[in-house]
Amino acid sequence: MAEEKCIFCLIASGDIPCAKVYEDEEVLAFLDLSPVRPGHTLVIPKAHYRDMLEAPVSLAPAVFSALRKVGAAVMKATGATGFNIMQNNGLSAGQTMFHIHWHIIPRVEGDGLGVWEQGKYPDAETMQNVAARVASYLEK
Ligand code: AMP
Ligand code: ZN
Repeated sequence: MAEEKCIFCLIASGDIPCAKVYEDEEVLAFLDLSPVRPGHTLVIPKAHYRDMLEAPVSLAPAVFSALRKVGAAVMKATGATGFNIMQNNGLSAGQTMFHIHWHIIPRVEGDGLGVWEQGKYPDAETMQNVAARVASYLEK
């Protein structure tokens, strides 16, 4: 269902313009207005879902297929040698548009885009405890 005030729903319905690069029955891809790099593209489902917890698993083939196709085209169009797929869930994770979307960001060696700093668990037991805690919350 479309949400009345959702910008991405309005883009999907054609009521707000976008720089479209791809469309099929289920998904739409268009350039991000504020690109990290030229060619930075967003892939959205046409139907409104807030985030990964709300979107149905049945959406996966259409999104996966669009990410592959558009990712390859963005690479060719920009001369990139790789791309990142980013998807933010929740304010704390940097989500600002609450209609689920995947970012495709073209990359070249040495382009200076940051990588996340990674740390270490203090010991093997802590790591196992965290894994067990996460696993305990999974639906069997
Ligand atoms: P996120 O922070 O993951 O929610 O990403 C939202 C993205 O949507 C940002 O990168 C914005 O630049 C982009 N954005 C917001 N409004 C528009 C719009 N009307 N057309 C294209 N991109 C947009
Ligand atoms: Zn929406």
